[in-house]
Amino acid sequence: MTTDRTNWIPGRILITKAAQEFAHGRAIVERAAALGSEIVELSNDRVVLAKEQDRRAAYRAAKSTLAVVVAPPSKRRLQPIPPSADWRFDLAEGCHAHCQYCYLAGSLSGPPITRVYANLDEILDGLPAHLGRGAVTSASRERAHEGTTFEASCYADPLGIEHLTGSLAEAVRFFGRWDAPVQLRFTSKFDGVEPLIGIAHRRKVRVRMSVNARTLIRFEGGTRPLAARLEALGRLARDGYRVGLTVAPIQPFPDWEAGYADLFEEAAKALTGVSDLDLTVELITHRFTPGSKAVLRGWYPGSDLDLDETARSRKLTKFGSVKYVYPAETMRAMRTVLSDLVGCTLPAARILYWT
Ligand code: SF4
Repeated sequence: MTTDRTNWIPGRILITKAAQEFAHGRAIVERAAALGSEIVELSNDRVVLAKEQDRRAAYRAAKSTLAVVVAPPSKRRLQPIPPSADWRFDLAEGCHAHCQYCYLAGSLSGPPITRVYANLDEILDGLPAHLGRGAVTSASRERAHEGTTFEASCYADPLGIEHLTGSLAEAVRFFGRWDAPVQLRFTSKFDGVEPLIGIAHRRKVRVRMSVNARTLIRFEGGTRPLAARLEALGRLARDGYRVGLTVAPIQPFPDWEAGYADLFEEAAKALTGVSDLDLTVELITHRFTPGSKAVLRGWYPGSDLDLDETARSRKLTKFGSVKYVYPAETMRAMRTVLSDLVGCTLPAARILYWT
């Protein structure tokens, strides 16, 4: 993997036979080729990498590959995504960064290749059928004014690859034209917002920056620095976007109260003077499953990220699988402190949820 000053340049782009039929897919390949990526045009639709001798080499090869593929109907079927939004839709799947607490670990199977969808128009055309049908914001008295909400960053960080894909800008234009109470939402650990500035979004888009206390950013390899993310958020807010902070994954590291106080102060500074500021905060604590722990320990064997089951509470998810969360007392303490910090430091913000 290489990067220019700020943007990821994949070592290799694979484009499937089906994706070659889409102008959007071909445009992605052209952009990547201009940046120096090796281009491989596949003669079929199977994305496979050459077998590597060891696990590290396989990880590196997958993480430096971007595959341009066609999202089949099963991937275009929208899913509810509480507590963030009514619906989840995907512009891409996977991520090139190296966060040692990546929430995708254990959710996506196979090597960690980033896949981006060439049939963007088909994906966007599938959204209007869901207008007014959600069970999160649409069904909530406090959040109904947000309209039907569509979350685009559940399985990818679409802003981190926007310089290659252009998919987010297209989605923002789509929502800007959509004459109905709707909102596009996505969150990111990147700062490449230039392609989104100046688009007629008509306040139908909420961009959140995924942030954490500065001491934890060391776990977020290959992402952009905290200050750059907050500066980008300020830029978007000044361009009229609704904005937000996704604070995740919250952890009780030594002196965590001061660490999170600094974070909210930095965010407040970045948003100083924004007229018409519409700011939300989502507070997400760290959790892991046996599956995600196994994947993360395989990807980052030297990591000192705390994944000690004995210090956590064991919970069953609604699907019957196990997850490990902080004990109730720690959760209560963190919730009280962080909610108070948001109230004091960012008085204009609405906290959407704590989880
Ligand atoms: S930026 Fe997000 S999706 Fe990408 S590796 Fe980090 S946590 Fe995972």
